[in-house]
Amino acid sequence: MQEPADRQGLTSWIELDGQAFFNNLKFFRQRIGEKTRLCAVVKANAYGHGIAQMAGLALDSGVDCFAVHSVDEALLLRSLSPTADVLILGPVPIPRLEEAVKGKFKICMYDKPVLKALSDVCRRLGVPAAVHLKMETGTNRQGIPLAELPQFLELLHRCPELSLEGIYTHFANIEDTTDHDYARFQMENFRKCAEAVEGAGFSPPIRHTACSAASLLFPETLADMVRIGISLYGLWPSRETYICYVLRSGNFKEERLEPVLSWKARVCQAKDVPEGACISYGCTYKTTHPSRIAVMPVGYFDGYDRHLSNNGHVLIHGKRAPVRGRVCMNFFMADVTHISGVHSGDEVVLIGRQGEEQITAGDIAERIGTIHYEVVTRLHPSIPRLVV
Ligand SMILES: *Cc1c(COP(=O)(O)O)cnc(C)c1O
Repeated sequence: MQEPADRQGLTSWIELDGQAFFNNLKFFRQRIGEKTRLCAVVKANAYGHGIAQMAGLALDSGVDCFAVHSVDEALLLRSLSPTADVLILGPVPIPRLEEAVKGKFKICMYDKPVLKALSDVCRRLGVPAAVHLKMETGTNRQGIPLAELPQFLELLHRCPELSLEGIYTHFANIEDTTDHDYARFQMENFRKCAEAVEGAGFSPPIRHTACSAASLLFPETLADMVRIGISLYGLWPSRETYICYVLRSGNFKEERLEPVLSWKARVCQAKDVPEGACISYGCTYKTTHPSRIAVMPVGYFDGYDRHLSNNGHVLIHGKRAPVRGRVCMNFFMADVTHISGVHSGDEVVLIGRQGEEQITAGDIAERIGTIHYEVVTRLHPSIPRLVV
């Protein structure tokens, strides 16, 4: 089979299915309607998918806004689009506020000294800035408690160079459970915060609360904008979210989210080993019969978790091959005794489909005791990302 030119010379790479991404966007656009803005959350290197690649696709398809964690991520987006709306969710260190103002980024605020410093920077530069106030409603991560909100609003009144563009909050317990009482409690708290903001004479045009799971399960959380991360990449936030969604929508046929990412590699050696041979560090695996072992040029450095030692599977020639021995820093081995004709250079799927078989980020997460969010975000940024 002829390799596409962009894959020649690569030992491991990530393929991004642009069509799947567009379909996921369309799916959310249909759910949220035309009036609600869609903010694509591209923090953490676009959940490991590659921020430049995913932002490129999103810009092509008319996403209204991007959310990132850091100033550096925001600057990267700015280099791709001089006009895109970029919201920085994470902390902006005071010495970097000037870059954020010059970049015309929307900055999330929850800390008074930072708000004062931002106002000073704007006055010095003679330019305005838009802020979003993060409300504490029960997650107890960053956020302004209701009791401190009046002081913030008073400060904002004294800073005409700052415009209150948005208020928002984030749910603590919406994807991990089928019991959504806590989410309702947070919605109620957010309503009180919004009332206080209005009572102080502000009317921020963009109120936002919903992440992927909230957007999928609670139309009442959509408000003026939704912040969609994991599900834009085609992954359900959790099994609980999927079950609730299917039960509520009565849609048992179609999943309607398509995973965007596949991770592939090429076998770098295939060898026959005798019965009783040790595989990899620590000799944790010993062959019980003459075996054929394929060596993969991928290891925990790349984001192939060491807990997949003697635990994971890969796909070769459309069949599952179990990981044998410990995952090394840059290599691991798989047993291909039952798969005929495996040779050096053959394509291996670590995450994704091959033939009838599929390995999802969720399958890997379950094996190593974490969530698929962590599996994809830890894919090393140095792995080439190719849009297909
Ligand atoms: C990461 C994040 C999101 C996106 O959450 P998903 O579950 O990936 O959709 C939304 N809002 C905030 C504040 C976040 O930090």
